[in-house]
Amino acid sequence: MEKRTNYDVIVIGAGIAGSAAAVAFSRQGRQVLLVERNLKEPDRIVGELLQPGGVDALSELGLVDCLEGIDATPINGYHLYWKDEEASFWFCEREGRKRKPQGSSFHHGKFVTKLRQAASAQSNTTVIESTVMEILRDGTSSHVTGILCSSSGQMDEQQFFAPLTILADGSTSNFRSQFTPHRPKSQSRFWGLELVDAKLPIPQYAHAVLGRGPPILMYPISSHQTRILIDIPDTVYDKLGNLAAVREYLQDHVAPIVPESVQPQLLAALRDGRLRSMPNAWLPSTKNTTPGLVILGDASNMRHPVTGSGMTVALKDAVLLAKTLNPDHVPDLEDTAKVLKKLGGFHWSRKEHSASLNMLAQALYFLFVPEDKGLQIMQRGFIQYVQDGEKNFAEPAWIMGGLPVSPFRLFYHFFAIALYSIHLHLRREGFMGLGHALFQSASVLVSAICIIWGPLVNELRR
Ligand SMILES: Cc1cc2nc3c(=O)[nH]c(=O)nc-3n(C[C@H](O)[C@H](O)[C@H](O)COP(=O)(O)OP(=O)(O)OC[C@H]3O[C@@H](n4cnc5c(N)ncnc54)[C@H](O)[C@@H]3O)c2cc1C
Repeated sequence: MEKRTNYDVIVIGAGIAGSAAAVAFSRQGRQVLLVERNLKEPDRIVGELLQPGGVDALSELGLVDCLEGIDATPINGYHLYWKDEEASFWFCEREGRKRKPQGSSFHHGKFVTKLRQAASAQSNTTVIESTVMEILRDGTSSHVTGILCSSSGQMDEQQFFAPLTILADGSTSNFRSQFTPHRPKSQSRFWGLELVDAKLPIPQYAHAVLGRGPPILMYPISSHQTRILIDIPDTVYDKLGNLAAVREYLQDHVAPIVPESVQPQLLAALRDGRLRSMPNAWLPSTKNTTPGLVILGDASNMRHPVTGSGMTVALKDAVLLAKTLNPDHVPDLEDTAKVLKKLGGFHWSRKEHSASLNMLAQALYFLFVPEDKGLQIMQRGFIQYVQDGEKNFAEPAWIMGGLPVSPFRLFYHFFAIALYSIHLHLRREGFMGLGHALFQSASVLVSAICIIWGPLVNELRR
C-alpha cells in the first residue's frame, strides 16, 4: 500500500463543489489532492442553469472563463405560465454592480469538464482518477486523517493523508451518513428530455409551466438544445410503474400544456429521445463537528431543484470556505481546534447565501405542486404580483438569482404575496361571496405559514 502525506487538503469528488474548492485552496498556496472516480465528461440531467449569483461566485474564484467555449446561453430572467396567465420577471440592475446580473445555462458535463481542467491547471493541485473507498480516522479519536482509494487498472489501494478532507461526493454521497444525522428526503423526481431546435417563446429566458399539470421547467442548454424537466411525484410514478407508461403520461399530460412552439420537438423527444430521471431531494445542512473534515455541496445540503440553485450554493460555499480557512487566519490546517472553530462560523455564515435559496426552493415547490384551492388563490396572487412589475419582483428575482439580499426580505415578499392574494380574492368574490371568501382568506394565511415554517425550522437548526 502506497502512503503519501504531502497534501494540505484532500477533496473527494471533482463535481461543481469539489473542483471549485480545489481551485480556491490551491490559489491560496495549499497543496491539494482532488480525487474523482470518473474523469470522463459527465452526462447528467442536473446542474445546467447557473444563477447570476453563481456566475459572481465563479468570477470571485477567477473561473468565469469556464463558461466560455461550451456554447453556454446567457439567462436574463424567467417566463412563467400559470393556468391561462403569463408573467415574466428578470434580473434587474442593482446599485453598486459593474454589470447587469445574468445567469448562464449549458451542458452540465461541459461545464464540469472546464472546472476540472481549471483545477488540473493549478501547479499545486494533483487530480487523480480513483474511487474513495474509505475515509480514514485516527485510531483513538474520530479525527479524519485521510482517504483510502482504489483506481481501476491498479492492483494496490492507495492511502493519502492531509490535515483537512473536503467531502464533496454529491447527492448520493456514500460517506455523509458517517458524519451527519440527516438523510436526504425526496417525494418526486424530475424527468428530463433534450429538445432539438425548439424555440422557447422568449430567448435567453428560462420558462416554467405551473398550475396546468405537473410543474415543468425549460431552458436552453446549447444553441440547438433545450432541456425540459417535468416533476412527477413518486406516488404517480409508482402507479405508472415503468418507462413506457411515463412516456405515455408525458404525451397525454405534458405535451398539451407546454407552449405550442415547443410541442413538436417535445413529441419527437418523447418518441426518440433519452428519458432520464433524478430524485428531487432536500437535505438540511449540519454543523461540522468532526475534526479534519468538512462536507460541501450536495453531500452537505440540498433543496428542490425547481429554482436551479444547487450549483450557486455549492460555488458560494467553496468561496466562503476558502476565505474562512485562508492561510492569513489559519496558517496551519493541523491546528484542529482552530479549524473546527472556524468551521462552526462557516456553518452559520453560509446561511447568508444558502438560507434564502433553500427556503425559496422548498416554498415555491410546496406552493405550486398541490391542487389545494387555498393555494391556488395564492398561486394566482403570486402571478399577479409578478405581473405588477419590477417594483414587486426586483428583489424576489435577486433572491432567486442568488444575489445578496437579506433572508428576511424573503419573508417580507412571501407574506406580501399572501396578503395581496387575499386582497385580490376578496375583490373578485365581491360583497355577496364575502363570508366564504373571508374563510378562504384565513386558509390562505394558514397555508402560507405552513409552507414557510418547515424550511425555516431547517435553517435554524444545527
Ligand atoms: C434534476 C436536477 C436538476 C438540477 N438542476 C440544477 C440547475 O439547473 N441549476 C443548479 O444550480 N443546480 C441544479 N441541480 C442541483 C445541482 O446539480 C447540484 O447542486 C450540484 O451538481 C452539486 O454539486 P456537487 O459538487 O455537490 O455534486 P456533484 O456535481 O454530483 O459532484 C460529485 C462528484 O463526486 C464524485 N464522487 C462521488 N463519489 C465518489 C467517490 N467515492 N470517490 C471519488 N469521487 C466520487 C462524482 O463522480 C462527482 O463527480 C439540479 C439537481 C437535480 C436533481
